[in-house]
Amino acid sequence: MNQLASTDGPVYLNHIGGANVPGQQARQFQATNPTTGKHWGRFVESCAADVDAAVRAASQALEGPWGQLSPTRRGRMLMAWGEKIAANAETIARLESLQNGKLLSEMTAQARVACDWLYYFGGLADKVEGRVIPLERRSVLNYTLREPLGVVGIIVPWNSPTFLTIMSCAPALAAGNTVVIKPSEVTSASAIELARLAQEAGIPPGVINVVTGARQAGEALVDHPDVAKISFTGSDGAGRAIAARAGARLASCTLELGGKSPNILFDDAAVDNAVVGILSGIFAAAGQTCIAGSRAYVHESIYDEVLDKLAARAKAIRLGDPLSPQTQMGPAATAAQLAKNESMVAKSLTAGASLLCGGKRANVPGLEGGYFFEPTIVHQLASDNPLLHEEVFGPVLAITPFSDDEQVIAMANGTRFGLAAGVWTRDFRRAHTLARRLQAGTVWINTYRALAFNSPFGGYKDSGQGRVNGMESVDQFLKTKSVWCETSEEIQDPFVIKV
Ligand code: NAD
Repeated sequence: MNQLASTDGPVYLNHIGGANVPGQQARQFQATNPTTGKHWGRFVESCAADVDAAVRAASQALEGPWGQLSPTRRGRMLMAWGEKIAANAETIARLESLQNGKLLSEMTAQARVACDWLYYFGGLADKVEGRVIPLERRSVLNYTLREPLGVVGIIVPWNSPTFLTIMSCAPALAAGNTVVIKPSEVTSASAIELARLAQEAGIPPGVINVVTGARQAGEALVDHPDVAKISFTGSDGAGRAIAARAGARLASCTLELGGKSPNILFDDAAVDNAVVGILSGIFAAAGQTCIAGSRAYVHESIYDEVLDKLAARAKAIRLGDPLSPQTQMGPAATAAQLAKNESMVAKSLTAGASLLCGGKRANVPGLEGGYFFEPTIVHQLASDNPLLHEEVFGPVLAITPFSDDEQVIAMANGTRFGLAAGVWTRDFRRAHTLARRLQAGTVWINTYRALAFNSPFGGYKDSGQGRVNGMESVDQFLKTKSVWCETSEEIQDPFVIKV
């Protein structure tokens, strides 16, 4: 058990060195169920001393059992962890829905596929290889060793906690590092559950540690001198602050940040497929995904037809309890996110845009305290309208017509973000031209919101640095050592650099 009972729900403790550890300052914070607006549990508000204890446990595990394991054994343990997560997918998913209000069906699917991620990265653990360098001087054997960085700090947001935690942890652990996870203060429980399952799977204590808390706990992790790297997923504002702090002590960062991703619909596309892609791109998960297709650009010749179809379908989306299979859209995860949805729409309308549908809080019978917001579409936006530039992280779509390819490429690239883009067309020459010219880490052609463990994912521009998923993500958790071995005993000139 990682939790204690209290009169207002369970109390979760930190997971440090394989043990359930209370906070050193005995401070706690409450978690709220966004579907009901009611408190459901409490967590440790970790201080710098708690973070230090977790980093020390991770350092010891690195020196001890984890560092001693062969990469193959390490990989097998990651796979066993994946199996444990898959076997407990329903429990984890219920916990996720309770915390962030996302649909149980989506959270279950994410918990299940986490296993695929751990199989893939477990399999890569013993494929990390050095190289032999062909030098001019034949008597020298020069080779490289790929070594883990050390203790990695993993800071994650609330929108897909299990999935995003595994995306960062799996390559870091496959590379031989140990980790300290600081989950979002909104969704702390699933990380603790994951750490417990890791231990059940045989991963040694101290390899995966979890300290809960808000920004201050994250800052203590970023500042800790024994944390070699920060793998951060979250908003661009926090990413900037973290990169600056980490940079001050020359620690490196991977940054997976926000987006303002465009979905571009040409008049030669399969329009009904595109409409579904645009709808799911923005309204799935109530818009609370980094890859939300929050801007749609539609060719002027089909603009009115598409506008009508999108509005009709958006109005028909069933809001409700995320645990019910009938529900298509749950609540915003927090009261602050709900307020942001409202204020961003208001700002956009004040700047001259028009509302096509939605735009306000939704009343769901029986769930009056929940943070529900109507699926919203805004149109007639000037090019500097905030909805075309600022991330909402809510179910708010900004839609704009375009007349030609050059114009839409310029509009699509006209934000500081560059996480993803969708292109809907049957013309493959046009599709691949756009794929090259769009400034985004992922371009989807005739699909949207697709991810795989073996396909690199990350941002251009303000959407981030580095990549998760795919082989290159393991490289980001390794350092290279160059070893030179002179095999000849011939004496060389001591004043000449040896090459
Ligand atoms: P957030 O940036 O507010 O918080 C993310 C995490 O960072 C939390 O654990 C938080 O406690 C911590 N944190 C915040 N400020 C910090 C600081 N200065 N120092 C250390 N830690 C700090 O983000 P959020 O509201 O939880 O999540 C939503 C954001 O995450 C959106 O912008 C979304 O686009 C982004 N996101 C990106 C990806 C991606 O892969 N690119 C995936 C999911 C979400």
